[in-house]
Amino acid sequence: MKAVRLTRIGKPLQLQEVSLPHPGERDVLIRVKAAGICHSDVHYRAGVSPVGLLPQTLGHEIAGIVEEIGSQVIAPKIGDRVCIHYQLSCGDCYFCTSGNDQFCKHGMMIGKHFDGGYAEYIAVPARNAILLPDEIPFEQGAVLMCSSATSFHALRKARLKAGETVAIFGAGGLGISAIQLARIFGALEVYSVDINKDKLKLAEKFGAIPINATEEDPVASIYRQTKKRGVDVALEVIGLPQTMRQAVQSLAVFGRAGLVGITDQSFEIHSYQELLGKEAEVIGCSDHLLQELPLLIEFVRRKKLDLSHVITDKIPLEADLINEVMDKMERFSSEVRTVICP
Ligand SMILES: [Zn+2]
Ligand SMILES: [Zn+2]
Repeated sequence: MKAVRLTRIGKPLQLQEVSLPHPGERDVLIRVKAAGICHSDVHYRAGVSPVGLLPQTLGHEIAGIVEEIGSQVIAPKIGDRVCIHYQLSCGDCYFCTSGNDQFCKHGMMIGKHFDGGYAEYIAVPARNAILLPDEIPFEQGAVLMCSSATSFHALRKARLKAGETVAIFGAGGLGISAIQLARIFGALEVYSVDINKDKLKLAEKFGAIPINATEEDPVASIYRQTKKRGVDVALEVIGLPQTMRQAVQSLAVFGRAGLVGITDQSFEIHSYQELLGKEAEVIGCSDHLLQELPLLIEFVRRKKLDLSHVITDKIPLEADLINEVMDKMERFSSEVRTVICP
């Protein structure tokens, strides 16, 4: 079969002919129908984030059709539409058995440590293949598995309740999903902070109150608009010390700041004024869980979570085209999402 693979760090991906993966007794073989090109893939190619042994087939946002099942597999069945949870976990360690598979002692990531979806076929453990209803296009099923799932996990970690107010720092892929999910959770008001007018327009379309940080101080604006109360939940999905600090500063009494964006820099917190005095919390949010995906998919099926604006382009499984998209993402760090449809 054809696979587009990372053969050397810092070099363009290459089309290679590789043997068809053979599913083990608890695995399924999936014919890939859609594979999203994610910013992490661009980082892997550039060597910014490490990958497993090379050559490696990239692609962790995957949806397709079950073509073959191992002898011990009960579900899914041949012909089922599925999307793939990219975290491979053992299912048996302490973290897996307590439902926290993202901390699995033997965890690996598809498309990073294990050949991914930039290929015609992929074999994965049956438990990683989650049913995708007919109403959801494969492309949406694929991209849903990354940014939307992470936003969903973060709002759960921040314990958002109906009737609360939320501020989301960052209106890209994660942010727009977070806005819609916060509304599904019953948030009264959702403030969306960004510096990009187009992103803020989209945020507003999904019911958020836009705050342009180039025009006003977001913390002051949130205090003004919440009658000096602050927000119950603030999510930071950018990965900048400045916006992490602003998220904490925007909190009301008992407020929770969920940090999702990744950075290696630290940020300042005034312990009394910003945490102790308010009994506020800062919560780290890492990735997402297998158990969260079925409900997330149901939100999309019911059109409560709209992903129709997310996918901007579809390309075939061709190395040149994929490299071109990655070059563009590297140069403009654009929010457009291209999906490979082999
Ligand atoms: Zn991704
Ligand atoms: Zn485990």
